[in-house]
Amino acid sequence: MAMLVEWVPDECPNGHRWSKGKFLAGWCNTRDVPCRYWICKVCDAAIYND
Ligand SMILES: [Zn+2]
Repeated sequence: MAMLVEWVPDECPNGHRWSKGKFLAGWCNTRDVPCRYWICKVCDAAIYND
């Protein structure tokens, strides 16, 4: 059984470091293939896993 390892960003574009609950995870559904993204709760910057 394959392990599903969820990638999380180390920090947002403005240098805020990852910590539990600091980034809000979501799915971007504007494209045919949904992509994962995070919103930094400190500065509202979006981080995309592309
Ligand atoms: Zn930030």
